[in-house]
Amino acid sequence: MPKRRVLIQIIINERILFDNASIAHLEDTAMNNTEIQTKLSAELAQVRQRLLDMLADSDQGYHQQLLSQLKDTPPSDWLELTANNLGPEYQILISRLEKLEAALCQIDIGQYGYCCDCEEKIDDERLLTDPATQRCRRCAP
Ligand SMILES: [Zn+2]
Repeated sequence: MPKRRVLIQIIINERILFDNASIAHLEDTAMNNTEIQTKLSAELAQVRQRLLDMLADSDQGYHQQLLSQLKDTPPSDWLELTANNLGPEYQILISRLEKLEAALCQIDIGQYGYCCDCEEKIDDERLLTDPATQRCRRCAP
């Protein structure tokens, strides 16, 4: 084979290798996002249920009122109804609800895994520990 053709062949081969690698990477990322989405959605359902249970267990009239209001409202609007209307004993649940919804929204718009403060990529280890993490190590040590 003439030298020039060999060279072209190498370039073509490398190009194919590169393309295959990119596609494999994309597929890998897409699959991971589906897994993450499943995981986040499952936790979100749990947290929403826990919120209902906690309100149901309360003997405060206001909590019972809110409970029936939540049952008539789509779960995607619950945060709005609860965020500023419940005491400190609910804050852990509510902030978890907030993070989970934000992470799911980021997957939808293709921004998952980026820090919401500095927009840098959050490292995988941190995302593995908590897939709903919103900030990188530097912004939230
Ligand atoms: Zn950051």
